[in-house]
Amino acid sequence: MSGVFQWPGTLARVTRNILFNLLDPPVLVLTYHRVTTLHSDSQSPAVTPQHFREQLRFLKKRFPLVRFEDAWSNIKKPAVSITFDDGYADNVLEALPVLEEMGVPATFFVCTGTIGAEKEFWWDELERIVLGDWTFPGRFELHDSTFGKTWPTGSAAERHALYEALLLLMKEVDALKREHWFVQLRQWAPAGEEWREFNRPMTAEELLRLGRSKWAEVGAHTITHTPLSSLSGEEQWKEIEGSKKCLEYFLGRNITVFSYPFGERCDYTQETVALCKKAGFTKVAANFPGQTHRWTDFFQIPRLVVRNWPAEVFVKQMKRFWIV
Ligand SMILES: [Zn+2]
Repeated sequence: MSGVFQWPGTLARVTRNILFNLLDPPVLVLTYHRVTTLHSDSQSPAVTPQHFREQLRFLKKRFPLVRFEDAWSNIKKPAVSITFDDGYADNVLEALPVLEEMGVPATFFVCTGTIGAEKEFWWDELERIVLGDWTFPGRFELHDSTFGKTWPTGSAAERHALYEALLLLMKEVDALKREHWFVQLRQWAPAGEEWREFNRPMTAEELLRLGRSKWAEVGAHTITHTPLSSLSGEEQWKEIEGSKKCLEYFLGRNITVFSYPFGERCDYTQETVALCKKAGFTKVAANFPGQTHRWTDFFQIPRLVVRNWPAEVFVKQMKRFWIV
């Protein structure tokens, strides 16, 4: 979308987008992560099944709902496409039944390194250890030649600061280094290695269930969910091509779409885009707001992250979104 005209100011941008949308009906791609009911949901945007159903009911009434992997060349009016990132079990157990019942298609971008693993995604494990209800030592010392540092951890506020700091730092490093840090964290807090059922990634059987549904398509989302911009070209290729091949092996069909982990512009590079083309993907989803027009780069498709909005808030968000 950007780069066609450069008009300054909000009013100009809104006017420009209204004109563009009249000129070329766009597709708005929505990102969900989880559909489930969580008691505390500090980081992951989980939508309750009830709100998910209300949101789909509104979308179904108002817009053509198109599949992410389809060509979109014959769109006659503004359309919406639904996607899920990461591969939580609740995608299959709680979202898929609603999609099937309502006849709404969705594309699920699945991280392959956690399929069937008896552990949580790394950001959930970090939350479990650092924000858990344990008796903590007064400080945590991270031993690392580049990122080594000591944090005070005597109070809940200090542990929250440690959590926020490690969440950012863990995005900077590869999966191996991250695991070394987790070994230190598990020795520091009496949290053990247990994992929480409600945060479980999907199993291979659940992935197959997804693959069999006529309302679901599966896309790749790397192996370890590391920002690709933090990796070398060779490491990126392993993550991109490795996740594609793994899903193709499990599902017995070609995987044509991908989404970047985290997906903001800083989380991938031009090299990443080139590697996705080389791997044979036809469309790749990013994670910054915007509509997709026929002139949009199909290897950086904008998306809107949906929160746990009740129907009236969701309707307002959607109305506002078409012009921003
Ligand atoms: Zn993700």
